[in-house]
Amino acid sequence: MTYVFAPQPIPTLPVTGTTQLFPVHRIYCVGRNYEEHAREMGHDPKKEAPFFFQKNPGNLLLGKTMPYPDKTNDFHFEIELVVALKSGGKNIAAADAMQQVYGYAVGLDMTRRDLQSDMKKAGRPWEIGKAFEASAPCTALHPASAIGHPTKGAIWVDVNGERRQTGDLAQMIWDIPNQIAFLSGLFELRAGDLIFTGTPAGVGAVKKGDKLHGHVDGVDDIHISVV
Ligand code: MN
Repeated sequence: MTYVFAPQPIPTLPVTGTTQLFPVHRIYCVGRNYEEHAREMGHDPKKEAPFFFQKNPGNLLLGKTMPYPDKTNDFHFEIELVVALKSGGKNIAAADAMQQVYGYAVGLDMTRRDLQSDMKKAGRPWEIGKAFEASAPCTALHPASAIGHPTKGAIWVDVNGERRQTGDLAQMIWDIPNQIAFLSGLFELRAGDLIFTGTPAGVGAVKKGDKLHGHVDGVDDIHISVV
């Protein structure tokens, strides 16, 4: 048997310090996982279980430029620590979750906030606000064997040299083991899955020509321009 047409290439992330590529299966994202960000979005973080949405693997963007997307006037950055899984399963206990982790990257959960807000108000799905082309800029992966498992440290983003978002990984409401435990109760996790682990306070809009510089202590820096 042959394919009707050539399949799309498998989305990948390069692995720092190697010539290997990490093949991406799914992209899960955690919503409102830092208290101050949950509050700025109008929610009380203490009252909510974690919730998740997805981006498409093909939405990953490697490189230095990000196209300003269509159909939005409120294109927001969300700096996030990204977790990459080397194995998976269902109903993984939090105590076993870190055995599934391959490594980490720094990503941006780019959001058409106006479209997302419209969908929230209408009780409709978020894909048009979250899962569009080039909505997931990401650095190369850094294996945990090289950098360990970051649980604290600064996470921030500058736009045109001005600090816009700032927080600390230790401020996550649901830590990475618990994110994996919750997610694996809802989905069968697989090798190749990425988890965008939520964003600290200070999200805001960018416009064409803006330069973003995101950082997570002990992981990496992401530099990208909006074009
Ligand atoms: Mn996010």
